[in-house]
Amino acid sequence: MRKRTRITLLVCAVMTGWMLQPAMAKKGKGGGKPAPVPVLSNAEASDLLFMREEEKLARDVYIAMYAEWSTPVFDNISQSEQTHMDKILGLLDKYGLADPALGFGEFADAELQELFDALIDLGLQSELDALMVGALIEEVDMEDIVLAMERTDEADILTVYGNLLAGSENHLNAFVKKIEAITGETYVAQWISQEEVDAILGR
Ligand code: ZN
Ligand code: ZN
Repeated sequence: MRKRTRITLLVCAVMTGWMLQPAMAKKGKGGGKPAPVPVLSNAEASDLLFMREEEKLARDVYIAMYAEWSTPVFDNISQSEQTHMDKILGLLDKYGLADPALGFGEFADAELQELFDALIDLGLQSELDALMVGALIEEVDMEDIVLAMERTDEADILTVYGNLLAGSENHLNAFVKKIEAITGETYVAQWISQEEVDAILGR
């Protein structure tokens, strides 16, 4: 309940930010130097670097799962993760941070490398396992995104994180639909609370 409220509040704040942006952009037009790029805190910078690789982990796992199982949901969502990666890259460029992303299936962050290897092993066991891996990745992503949102007040970063969060909610929905179609049972949350998952699924 506590965390869910936080997620809802953050999403509302981000959506308000989106609506205000066009008006502010118009007002700023017609002269003046562009505003200097703010210096990020260490936490903001490391969150961006981690998020770039976390989105890559999702993309790479889904590419591998599509190659193995040919389930269209993996193909669609891996493309969405590429878009998320690109959005973070835009922020890394803006704030002068070097892109940590390596080749397919390779990660600069040792924990993400371990997680990737474990998730691939799991997902290759069956199509259902692969879909459960997908749902797990989305649950973990959502928690990490919300935590990162609490550590920044930069509007452009919050907007991108808000995008990623909305994407993860859609992806979790898509995976859960497939999982429940196979098992005939109600999906059980794997990382965040059942209450949060139910709220995201509109239950
Ligand atoms: Zn994503
Ligand atoms: Zn996703």
